[in-house]
Amino acid sequence: MSIRPLDGPARRFEELLGPRSVITDPVRLRTYECDGLTHHRVTPGVVVLPDTAEQVAGVVRICNEHDLPFVARGAGTGLSGGALPRSDGVLIVTAKMRRILSIDLPNRRATVEPGVTNLAITEAVRGLGFYYAPDPSSQQVCTIGGNVAENSGGAHCLKYGFTVNHVLGLEIVTPDGYIVELSESGPGYDLLGAFVGSEGTLGIATKVTVRLSRAPETVTTLLAAFEDVERGGRAVSAIIGGGIVPAAIEMMDALAVEAAEAAVACAYPEGAGAVLIVELDGPAEEVAHQFGEVTRLCREAGAFELRVADDPERRAAIWKGRKSAFAAVGRISPAYIVQDGVVPRTALPGVLASIDRLSHEYGIRVANVFHAGDGNLHPLVLFDDAEPGAAERAELVSGRILDLCIEHGGSITGEHGVGVDKARYMPKMFSADDLDTMQLVRCAFDPRGLSNPGKVFPTPRLCGEAPGVRRGAHPLVEAGLAEQF
Ligand SMILES: Cc1cc2nc3c(=O)[nH]c(=O)nc-3n(C[C@H](O)[C@H](O)[C@H](O)COP(=O)(O)OP(=O)(O)OC[C@H]3O[C@@H](n4cnc5c(N)ncnc54)[C@H](O)[C@@H]3O)c2cc1C
Repeated sequence: MSIRPLDGPARRFEELLGPRSVITDPVRLRTYECDGLTHHRVTPGVVVLPDTAEQVAGVVRICNEHDLPFVARGAGTGLSGGALPRSDGVLIVTAKMRRILSIDLPNRRATVEPGVTNLAITEAVRGLGFYYAPDPSSQQVCTIGGNVAENSGGAHCLKYGFTVNHVLGLEIVTPDGYIVELSESGPGYDLLGAFVGSEGTLGIATKVTVRLSRAPETVTTLLAAFEDVERGGRAVSAIIGGGIVPAAIEMMDALAVEAAEAAVACAYPEGAGAVLIVELDGPAEEVAHQFGEVTRLCREAGAFELRVADDPERRAAIWKGRKSAFAAVGRISPAYIVQDGVVPRTALPGVLASIDRLSHEYGIRVANVFHAGDGNLHPLVLFDDAEPGAAERAELVSGRILDLCIEHGGSITGEHGVGVDKARYMPKMFSADDLDTMQLVRCAFDPRGLSNPGKVFPTPRLCGEAPGVRRGAHPLVEAGLAEQF
């Protein structure tokens, strides 16, 4: 029997964690070969399931001793291949670290382990009149560690802000295996802010303190149906331009509605070319006033049907189609790519028209479901993987959509992260100097480039991408533009 290069480290992991928390069996390893982005697949070298921060730190120190790259994984719902493992490395899965450590209502905060799901935080405080505001559609399964790494958003982030606005403190294991605390208070650089959204490249979060928000007095949800997305887009601009910041404004086009109907029979208005969901929350009087305004603005923009829900059951009925939209397209297409890009809100109608043109040009259907208030698009690029060339055309359309976002002053990702999938688009948004500067931050945390290498940055550049010690000064340091401490 041949000895594999990872056998030695795997034995050390077993001594540290116990044999049940270390996976080396090739069949079981395949469970972890991809995240939500299934067209990137790599079987990990070893999978470990630590229980505590000390165990995570111990694993990372062993990785350092053996020069092994490591990747953190929460629930694996990421849609940019951020948790794609390395065949020559270790996948550190936080699934067993899912204890809620403390709930501190007077200070409106909760401290949890990284494997706790997003929704579990809200469930823990729901009866007490509080909730955790960022709400990715994957909230039932995705973990708070993954949310921190991706700076995740959700429908209600328009009003309440993204994960970064709700994380008050972190305990992390640094890429060289130390346990340190990052907090929002205190003098010095905002390292907490740097860590949130760093996609696992600056270390592993082992404890997360989040802000708890007070449940609003009233919530009202409105569904407005329009003939087309252009009219729906006009309503969005009018609402925001009118100074109203709803808790959420979501839009679905005709194809997305068709998919949702096929999957969950949400009974949205017949003949709608676009459906807008607007949620208002806050003090009852304010919500009542805003509701009148939003209704008027939707009518003026051409809404032909309006539905209102102010009790949880009817609100859930309105949200049902939107919440199931990603998975629902599986009903109308054998395969699809979920894209994620951002444009300024005012550019929405033009960009949607261009996406429609691309769709006709390439013969690829695109369903649009998006956080309209943020200008955060989620085009679902549909294709039949059995049809020769269709996957390639879908990939092209998907890339052209990102080009459109950049051309309109937007971004290549709104909330799903860069991961392995979008690293090649980074030079379209950033200059070589910009990327080098980002690498300096990376190097400050992870000079050996062991923590989730191959993600976010486009090609092997400077110290960041190839495991191993960086030799010589960083070019920015050499040029006198940055200091090395
Ligand atoms: C149906 C569906 C709907 C979705 N809707 C949304 C949405 O509305 N908004 C949104 O923002 N996203 C959405 N997503 C994407 C995804 O759910 C989020 O990015 C989520 O934060 C990933 O969490 P996870 O636990 O699954 O992380 P994983 O996929 O396991 O990992 C994601 C990244 O985080 C890193 N990571 C994981 N844990 C840690 C840790 N403890 N420390 C450091 N790094 C870590 C990984 O290395 C990887 O880079 C959706 C996904 C699906 C499948």
